[in-house]
Amino acid sequence: MTDYLVLGSGIAGLSFALRAARHGQVVLVTKRTGNDAATGWAQGGVAAALSDGDSFEQHATDTHDAGAGLCHERVVDLCVRGGPAAIAWLHDVGARFSRTPGGSLDLAREGGHSARRVVHAGDLTGQEIQRALLEAARAHPNISLLEWHMGVDLITVSQFGGPDRCVGAYILDELQGRIETVTARATVLATGGAGKVYLYTTNPDVATGDGVAMAYRAGAWLGNMEFFQFHPTCLYHPTAKNFLISEALRGEGARLCLTSGEPFMSQHHHLGDLAPRDVVARAIDYEMKRSGLEYVLLDISHKPAGFVRERFPGIYEKCKSLGIDITAEPIPVVPAAHYMCGGVTSDLDGRSSLPGLWVLGETAFTGLHGANRLASNSLLEGLVFAHRAADKLAGGIEALRQQPSPEVPDWESGSAVASDEAVVVSHNWDELRRTMWNYVGIVRSNSRLERAARRVALLDEEIRDYYWRHLVTRDLLELRNIAVVAQLVISCASARKESRGLHFTIDYPETLESYARDVAVKRGVSPHLRGAWSA
Ligand SMILES: Cc1cc2nc3c(=O)[nH]c(=O)nc-3n(C[C@H](O)[C@H](O)[C@H](O)COP(=O)(O)OP(=O)(O)OC[C@H]3O[C@@H](n4cnc5c(N)ncnc54)[C@H](O)[C@@H]3O)c2cc1C
Repeated sequence: MTDYLVLGSGIAGLSFALRAARHGQVVLVTKRTGNDAATGWAQGGVAAALSDGDSFEQHATDTHDAGAGLCHERVVDLCVRGGPAAIAWLHDVGARFSRTPGGSLDLAREGGHSARRVVHAGDLTGQEIQRALLEAARAHPNISLLEWHMGVDLITVSQFGGPDRCVGAYILDELQGRIETVTARATVLATGGAGKVYLYTTNPDVATGDGVAMAYRAGAWLGNMEFFQFHPTCLYHPTAKNFLISEALRGEGARLCLTSGEPFMSQHHHLGDLAPRDVVARAIDYEMKRSGLEYVLLDISHKPAGFVRERFPGIYEKCKSLGIDITAEPIPVVPAAHYMCGGVTSDLDGRSSLPGLWVLGETAFTGLHGANRLASNSLLEGLVFAHRAADKLAGGIEALRQQPSPEVPDWESGSAVASDEAVVVSHNWDELRRTMWNYVGIVRSNSRLERAARRVALLDEEIRDYYWRHLVTRDLLELRNIAVVAQLVISCASARKESRGLHFTIDYPETLESYARDVAVKRGVSPHLRGAWSA
């Protein structure tokens, strides 16, 4: 039995592991390589109020404004105040950020932020953070990193007649093709988001909502799954998959235009191209549907070419490799599923409602983002909560070590046989994501949600039947998980009979005071409105 079992090697899992390893043994499992995480893909950076002209209060106000009345005040406060220390910690671990000629941190401005406050490493910020954290984790004697190991299901003592407590997880060792039982004094879900539940997404392939689905099956509370953020500007290109064009471009003056060259954002919001991303995504969706365009254009070519190349080296190179010179021509873009604001509910220290289970990063619903995430607040949230959770656990780990180890049976495959019809998995995978894209996307309605609910329920039934009859593979497990996530998004969206933040429905276009609450859901309990969790 280990002290800590951590699922996921993004900013949340790695930061927790490094901090917890100071006082305990950590088993860190990740379903592909250590580098396969959304964290490494982050371009913009980490928000932290660090400049003279900025303040924690301003950062908090911007977060609340984006969150459309649902951000939890205490969570916002502790995250914005935790920013400077989180950046300093990353620096100590070895992450190197862009600096001004004078040597201070170069702070970028992004949509929704009233000040320059985004710490970045060019436009490859996530890559630098992931590199530094992973290197440190690999070198740490108290951390065992198991790549190609995938969490299948959480182990709760109640499954075997004991109290309601999580004591570890069943883990698929993909290379050996067997399921291992890993017990732990504290289990930490840091499995990232679920962008793959939609047909078009900026997320990496690992983002299949595994942690959300596992926690749901284990009986933990979840919240606000209806708030899925669509990034307004994903590169539109026949061969490039999932490539995001950072909002920092608009922060530096890029303008959105129709293919005719006509700018349109000022007709949708007083902040024009710097409007919050939900407004921008909806405006693009509206303009594309209105004019029948397959994409719109994002133009930064009026800025000096040297500045563009230096400020956005990753985007410049990627676009250039695809034949688009962003210093001389506009970039074709479309919106795509980007960030899951809801998730497994967590208290102020990352504890879920299930004893023994902790939840961090994008998998968690802490209350920071409310109905819409402010750009660059998620890396910050991952760091702040990882540290809080590890520090909280440090005090209690010795007492947990004194408790007897639970008796846990090994995984039972029964009469399951090897998958004989992979087409069932690939077909359902495609149909599910397409259904979510068409009916549960940027603009929703009662009839679209009902249609989606019927189709996804049918798919889920088929998937579960297939799951019980066949030996598990990663593809099958991921499909089973996105079916759970899809149902949670649909049912939470159906419970919110108003439009707010990222949830927009043509049947209830107004924001209603009576709905200024979170939606709560758990296995066996339908989604319903409830008060703030930890504010
Ligand atoms: C293109 C892009 C750009 C972004 N830009 C920014 C930005 O500039 N600023 C910002 O704040 N946020 C940004 N975000 C969001 C931010 O990157 C993520 O919210 C954040 O990195 C999530 O961190 P995490 O540790 O929770 O999850 P991740 O970094 O996604 O890590 C999850 C880990 O869990 C593993 N995993 C998943 N399921 C299992 C399982 N069943 N078993 C074992 N392991 C599992 C994955 O393989 C992965 O290692 C961006 C996101 C994307 C996709």
